[in-house]
Amino acid sequence: MRSSLTLSAAFILAAAVFIGMPNDGMAQNHSNRFTIVIHGGAGTISESMPESVKEQYYASLRKALTIGRDVLANHGTSMEAVEKVLRYFETDPKFNAGIGAVYTSAGTHELDAAIMNGATLRCGAVAGVEHIAHPITLAKLVMEKTPHILLAYQGADNFGREMGMKWVPNSYFDTPERKSELERWMKKIKEHDHGTVGCVCLDEYGNLAAGTSTGGLTGKMPGRIGDSPLVGDGTYADNQTCAVSGTGIGEQYMRYAVGFNINALMAYKRMSLKDAVHYIIHDVLKPGDGGVIAVDRKGNYAMDFNTTGMFRGVANSSGLFELKIWKDK
Ligand code: ASP
Repeated sequence: MRSSLTLSAAFILAAAVFIGMPNDGMAQNHSNRFTIVIHGGAGTISESMPESVKEQYYASLRKALTIGRDVLANHGTSMEAVEKVLRYFETDPKFNAGIGAVYTSAGTHELDAAIMNGATLRCGAVAGVEHIAHPITLAKLVMEKTPHILLAYQGADNFGREMGMKWVPNSYFDTPERKSELERWMKKIKEHDHGTVGCVCLDEYGNLAAGTSTGGLTGKMPGRIGDSPLVGDGTYADNQTCAVSGTGIGEQYMRYAVGFNINALMAYKRMSLKDAVHYIIHDVLKPGDGGVIAVDRKGNYAMDFNTTGMFRGVANSSGLFELKIWKDK
């Protein structure tokens, strides 16, 4: 009796290893096929930016995409890839997430982030973070360690401290570039600063995940929360349809529930990923509002925007590795 039990346990374990068992416990078909899409924000991005600056952006995008691609190529999960890519962006001062976050009208930083697992619909988010260096990891901890989805302000920072995350002064997020954007904003020079970061993936287990991290919009009122940490607006993932991360004027993304509606067009209207994304970006949102990246469960992907540019990249298990900023380059 005992040995037949041991035998069946061994059989189950072997079967789990054979079909693939990502560490969130979801056994899925193991296809060896993966796709990853990243963005580093959409907005007014001048094509006449100096060659050296362009190269710096491409180098950062290449690094982020390589980090995520390598996680997936080494049998990691989509959730792991999303977190790792966004943690990288949160340390790169060129992007509006972590160090390099934009300033509020009060000259401070309030960071938002969310992550969602398309296999389980479990998700976690934080808003108004002022002292935790990696909001995306804090969002993942909200998902894993609390019964809640969204923690904000002091409650979010204190939870991070309880979880043993590094506590940083708010000035840790300062950069001179973002400071001068705030100064221009104060002189009423209107521009949509870019740099929010996002990542969506399909892993070899057939699971989708999405994540977004941002400092929000330059000059936002203290207390303003954008679309990025709102599940269904700037971030959404469901294995039945797609994973989406948006970037742009958050209020528009909230008004039109962008992430959820792309998913809904696919689920209810049987639209393809590309058509659903195109419809929301070009027929629902207004020119200049922003862009999205998305991937579906077959590995089809979309990177669409209605601004002058969107920092973006895509890689997959067939060897595709592509980076772009403007329409064709
Ligand atoms: N969507 C972000 C927000 O409104 C900003 C951005 O993506 O540029 O907070």
